[in-house]
Amino acid sequence: AVAMASEKEAALAAVPSDSPTIFDKIINKEIPSTIVYEDDKVLAFRDISPQAPTHILIIPKVKDGLTGLSKAEERHCDILGRLLYTAKLVAKQEGLEDGFRIVINDGPSGCQSVYHIHVHLLGGRQMNWPPG
Ligand code: IMP
Repeated sequence: AVAMASEKEAALAAVPSDSPTIFDKIINKEIPSTIVYEDDKVLAFRDISPQAPTHILIIPKVKDGLTGLSKAEERHCDILGRLLYTAKLVAKQEGLEDGFRIVINDGPSGCQSVYHIHVHLLGGRQMNWPPG
């Protein structure tokens, strides 16, 4: 893998497509990850480059064209709800009683670098607003 100076560079270098991503390898256990929650529909694992004491990614096991939120169709409503509900379960599991943040980056301007929809769950420190 090419070393990236920043998440922004990775995002700007990423080519949006529906091809398999590194997240498929994580789903298929072909590369290691720290899984914190799994069921038949979704997987949650720790981000390799954490931006907060808790930084977890929640993804659908089947992408079904959902490279990012901008590609959502009505058929995706159940899985979209499932991703957010899982974020809540994992936030509780992580002990984020004081609050947390959910982020979905979309496209180059949104700083998306992996084209398999994912919800970031960030917590364990005070967040700021506006985000960067
Ligand atoms: P995005 O910028 O919203 O697309 O988020 C992609 C996230 O995936 C980034 O926060 C990366 O640090 C994370 N990431 C990339 N590769 C891996 C990996 O192999 N394991 C865990 N997290 C990863």
